[in-house]
Amino acid sequence: MSTIIEADNLKAYYITKAYGVERTVKAVDNISLKINEGEVYGIAGESGCGKSTLLKVLLGEFEPPLTVVDGSVTYHLDNQEIDSASMSKAQRRNLRWKKISYIPQGSMHVLNPVRRIRATFHDFISAHLNVTKAESLKMTQAYLSELGLPEKVLNSFPHQLSGGMRQRVTIALATILWPNLIFADEPTTALDVVVQRGVIQLLREIQQKKGSTLILITHDMGVHANLADRIAILYAGKIVEEGTTRTILKNPRHPYTQFLIRSLPNLDERVERVSIPGRPPALDNPPSGCRFHERCPLAMDKCLTIEPEMIQIDETGHRTACHVVTEELSHATN
Ligand code: SF4
Ligand code: MG
Repeated sequence: MSTIIEADNLKAYYITKAYGVERTVKAVDNISLKINEGEVYGIAGESGCGKSTLLKVLLGEFEPPLTVVDGSVTYHLDNQEIDSASMSKAQRRNLRWKKISYIPQGSMHVLNPVRRIRATFHDFISAHLNVTKAESLKMTQAYLSELGLPEKVLNSFPHQLSGGMRQRVTIALATILWPNLIFADEPTTALDVVVQRGVIQLLREIQQKKGSTLILITHDMGVHANLADRIAILYAGKIVEEGTTRTILKNPRHPYTQFLIRSLPNLDERVERVSIPGRPPALDNPPSGCRFHERCPLAMDKCLTIEPEMIQIDETGHRTACHVVTEELSHATN
């Protein structure tokens, strides 16, 4: 298994100053992760926990007030190690869409409303490859047919398509140059359940056809359960647990992850659905110690003052940051 992208002690804050008062929102606060080539890596957590910010920084697509204050992001592409911070604009442009692609949140904003879909595809392809209109059309037709999308969408304007079809067209557009690394931000949000299934299926197909790596950001644990190989749970700017999807679903150890799993709809009606008490903290003044302590039913004294360290639970790579789990493990080994 080789790593395609990694973050090392990454800190990315929104730093603003108004009327002489500086405000720092710690949206990504000391995150380390390694994503394997060819996997679907899910990033989960409630809204406001830093998911989209993490995506922006991993993608290298951000501007002030968002600032990387510490740590690094490294890409491993074409047998090269590239430090994201030291990349030039030209280098980044070269990678974008061809190697590293992005499916943004809300497909409505991506497709030009006054251009037919075929023209949008041509604009996009010809910006990266030296092709004629006929060549880009042929490429687009072949790709849509490979993905099972109807060719007739090419003559439509975006508003003539359903929300689900628009989202599928956006996904096709973002991946037509066969990128190695695809980021998707809430790709199924705002779609109804049946349409969601089609979008999930499409993402899986694209990912499997070329063995691309997909980094999937969504608050929807059901989507992660369907698509992700591994899941990282974000809470208040930190990863609190990470593991294979099976482990996260069957054996979550962090109390926050346990809440997320138990808030999923369950086919077994005897299992009670619970919602998480309270709300996520404001990140300009996060709680001391464990950031989850105000909402945690297991919180002990030290949770209020000491930040739990991330520890590895087993050889599958399952890791979490919770004092209770650390204590249990140390009792088990003593
Ligand atoms: Fe709860 Fe303490 Fe674990 Fe945080 S460290 S999740 S407050 S038990
Ligand atoms: Mg978001």
